Amino acid sequence: MEIHIRGLKKYYYSEGRTIKALDDVNLTIPANKIFTLLGPSGCGKTTLLRSIVGLETPDEGEIKIGDTVVWSSEKNIYVPTEKRGLGMVFQTYAIWPHMNVFNNVAYPLQNQGMPKAEIEERVRETLRFVQLEGFEKRPATKLSGGQQQRVALARALVAQPKVILFDEPLSNLDAKLREETRKELRSFLTELEITAVYVTHDRIEALALSDTIGVMRSGKIVEIGAPKKIYFNAEHQFVADFIGRSNLIPAKVKQQKDSFTVVQTSLGEFVCKERDYPLDSDLTLCIRPEFIDLAEEGALDQKNTLSGVMETMVFVGDVYESEIRVGDVLFMAKVDPETTLEVGDPVTFSVKPEHCLLVSE
Ligand code: ATP
Repeated sequence: MEIHIRGLKKYYYSEGRTIKALDDVNLTIPANKIFTLLGPSGCGKTTLLRSIVGLETPDEGEIKIGDTVVWSSEKNIYVPTEKRGLGMVFQTYAIWPHMNVFNNVAYPLQNQGMPKAEIEERVRETLRFVQLEGFEKRPATKLSGGQQQRVALARALVAQPKVILFDEPLSNLDAKLREETRKELRSFLTELEITAVYVTHDRIEALALSDTIGVMRSGKIVEIGAPKKIYFNAEHQFVADFIGRSNLIPAKVKQQKDSFTVVQTSLGEFVCKERDYPLDSDLTLCIRPEFIDLAEEGALDQKNTLSGVMETMVFVGDVYESEIRVGDVLFMAKVDPETTLEVGDPVTFSVKPEHCLLVSE
């Protein structure tokens, strides 16, 4: 089921200030895919999610779930949360500690007054789906964090909603478990063919889990795209920088040539992936640390070659996280852990034009 959001605005008033939590959000969330709202703390992700759920009342705009308008300022429509047909999973697992697993999952169906036998069947089916078969009688508190999160997922799914919403559901889990649960969640959701809306400020989680990412900043959606598009081919500096570590260098467009865009920077000319901007546009050149190629012999003939000095090297297992000084600029670079280079050594490196991304403000 698609979700359509048009002209959504939400203001908060606090200590004499107006906070634009949602600043004219227009968004279509695709049906049966995992859509993630990603952005820094305070950018409005939770407000948007809670508005879809009906736990927050926006000031202006319209929200449509499938063909049903569930909220409209103009048409004066408000469909209460329980009638919106949604499932929800929140950061705090919100499972009831005094109930066993079965009762936790059965609760939404008992609330609907479903016959007992049908409830038993549905709960069994859902627990099997989240791989908690046999855990029915276990007290909810006697489960691991990951299992508790699966109970929360089962409870959100048991009423067979068309849309499921997640607000930072994995943030209470430790790093390793978070990684496992994320993988599991992606496979559960893909199998179900359900529209999932997921909120996080964790870029890796967004990249690993989503079909589409909407990046938010200050109450607005800045950019929407598939994870690879957002990572490799962002349009805006904010997005390129937020989704991964980047070297950002001010650049001016000098020439459009042979399917490349040539820019001038304080470090000289760079030949970049083509971007359709007029000559003399002020842009930012974005180079990810993993795309800095330490030059082999003969590399000096290549485009975008620079020389500098290795300034720092931190061994983090799979790479050295390094910094190479070139004039005033300190380039973050990922260097092979088996390198013989040391701090203080002169280095030459190049960056392929396809890895030189030009982004606007
Ligand atoms: P986080 O990742 O930290 O949860 P978020 O992106 O989800 O952040 P929101 O919780 O939607 O952001 O908040 C958006 C803005 O609205 C923030 O500036 C926040 O301080 C403000 N805000 C949220 N709720 C209220 C409230 N009840 N009263 C006043 N201001 C609020």
